[in-house]
Order: sequence, then C-alpha cells, then structure tokens
Amino acid sequence: MNNEAVEAAGIALLGAKSIVLVAHVRPDGDAIGSVLGLGRALEDAGKKVQMVLTDGVPDNLKHLPGADRVRPYAEPGWDLLVSLDCSDPRRFGPAFDPTTVPDINIDHHVTNLKFGRINLVDAKSVATTAILVELIPAWGLEIRQPAASALLTGMITDTLGFRTPNMTSHAMQLAGRLMDLGAPLPELYRRALIERSLEATRLWGEGLGTIEQDGRIIWATITLDARERAGYPGLDDAEMISVISGIRDHDIFLVFSEQPYGEVKVSWRASPGHDVSNVALDFGGGGHPAAAGATIKGDLEHVKRLVLEATERLALVSEPEG
Ligand code: 5GP
Ligand code: MN
Repeated sequence: MNNEAVEAAGIALLGAKSIVLVAHVRPDGDAIGSVLGLGRALEDAGKKVQMVLTDGVPDNLKHLPGADRVRPYAEPGWDLLVSLDCSDPRRFGPAFDPTTVPDINIDHHVTNLKFGRINLVDAKSVATTAILVELIPAWGLEIRQPAASALLTGMITDTLGFRTPNMTSHAMQLAGRLMDLGAPLPELYRRALIERSLEATRLWGEGLGTIEQDGRIIWATITLDARERAGYPGLDDAEMISVISGIRDHDIFLVFSEQPYGEVKVSWRASPGHDVSNVALDFGGGGHPAAAGATIKGDLEHVKRLVLEATERLALVSEPEG
C-alpha cells in the first residue's frame, strides 16, 4: 500500500473532530467489524464517531460491542467521511448518494473503483479488518478491547474461518495479534460462523431441496415463498452458499435469492483457478475472484438463465492450474 496515502489518511483522521464511518449494504462481518473496530479505536482517541450501515447489523453479529450504536443515516455536522469494505459508492445504499466522494476509501476488493479522495485498497489482504489491524497502529492509534474483537470477527467471516485460498501466514499473525489484545477467538468464531437460528436452518432445507447442476456448475434457488415457509426474516441466503460451495467435483457455485420488487440477488463462489468477479461486475455487482455477488432486476427464471449462460461463458473458460 502507498505510504504517502497511508500518511495522508492518518493526518486527515487525527485532524478531524467528527468522523462518519460507512460500510456496504447487507453488511457482512468484515463490513461491521471494520466500522465497529475503527470506530472504537477513534473514540478511544477522543474522536466523535458515527457508524453508519444502511441495513443495520444482522442477528448473528449483534453481540459485537457497539452494534447497538449503528445507525442507517449520518446526522449532519461531521467533517470526515470514511468508506470501509465498499468496492463501489453505490454500495453505501440510501445512506449516501453514490456521487459522494469519501475522504478515505479503505477496502480489499479487487473490483474497488478507487472513488475516494485517498484510496487505501489492498486486494491481497484477506479482509478490510486485516488492513485496519496494520493501519490503526500506523496512525498512532491503539487497538484495545473491544475493537480487537470486532476486527477479529471481520477476519474470521471474510476468510470463512481462515480457510479461503487467499489465507497467508501473515494474516494468521494479524489474527494472533488480535488474540493477544484480548479477542476471544473460539467464542467469536462460534457466534459468527457456527451458530444459526432455527429459521435459517429451515431456509437451508428449502434451498438445498432445489439444487440443480450442469457440468461443473451447481446452483440452488431461494424463492420468496420458500423464505416465508421457513419463517426467515432476512432477504439473504443465511450463508447457504457456504454449504453449496463444499460440493465436490464442481467449480462454480451459485445461489439465486428472489427479492421483493422484481429483483434477484445472485451469489457466486468459485474453486481456485476460476474467477467469478468479472461476471458479477458485468451484472452490476462485484467482489473477489473466488466470491462475488450482484443484485439483478428481472424475473427469477429469466435472471437465472442469463446468469448461468454468462457464468459458463466468462467464469468457466479458465481451467484450474496445476
Ligand atoms: P455475497 O455473495 O456473500 O453477497 O458476496 C460475495 C462478495 O461479493 C462479497 O465480497 C461482497 O462484498 C461482494 N458483493 C456482493 N454483492 C455485491 C454487489 O451488488 N456489488 C458489489 N460491488 N459487490 C458485491
Ligand atoms: Mn464485506
């Protein structure tokens, strides 16, 4: 990462009085951990901080300290805006207009559009929270509890429990540093990745019953009716994609989640050697080579057909190396 940009960001943060931190819609552990972790470190340094997430904090991460302080919008009066874990300003959701230029853009998505005044983007990093574990002390700020727990949660969720192909010993060391600062790994891991509600489990039952496959591609569908039968309150797939992506002898994994108002949320996962970020980008979404997503307008069956065709064309061309 560019040292001058790191320094400029530090000067901006330390010089600000009232800071807004925003992360992406439908926030995951990395988005939430980044907002809560950096937020707490800035508050410990005497800054006034607003933590903004359009969609709030999902149930499985509400235990994180500071989660109750998250708001869907920023109150006016702030003097610095920091975007966290957002690859694209449209990912702010209604909290900020997509033409907004944040002062600092901190992210690890390869599809990041570098839309900030200062851009701290490291696509090699396993998580935005992992970037922050190094940036916060570099700026002369301190990571104490509970910031350490928030940051470790982001690292746990974005690496699916330290098992994604981008894992490095350096990332393990950063996680170890957070444990040394008091973050309880087994408990954070269980709450973020293992525990789930009965309704989420029923949603898996509904979704897993729909599995279809064609060659190396395999997919499942969650309709609005299935969601209602399961009694599941969210509009996400309850991480069912993680189950699908464990199915042996396939390379590309998808979940189609029907949304209200004629939209479909698509989640892609790819085995090593394949890249689904480009196909997601083509449909107005984004993400990483191994994990990407998009929300697409159109009828469920029509979207499925278009996406499966494009996925076969764009993502399956590359054969795994070695
Ligand atoms: P998921 O399938 O779990 O929703 O997302 C997988 C990855 O793709 C995550 O890194 C997420 O941030 C990214 N992603 C998901 N949906 C979108 C989207 O609509 N736009 C962009 N730019 N990235 C997305
Ligand atoms: Mn994220």
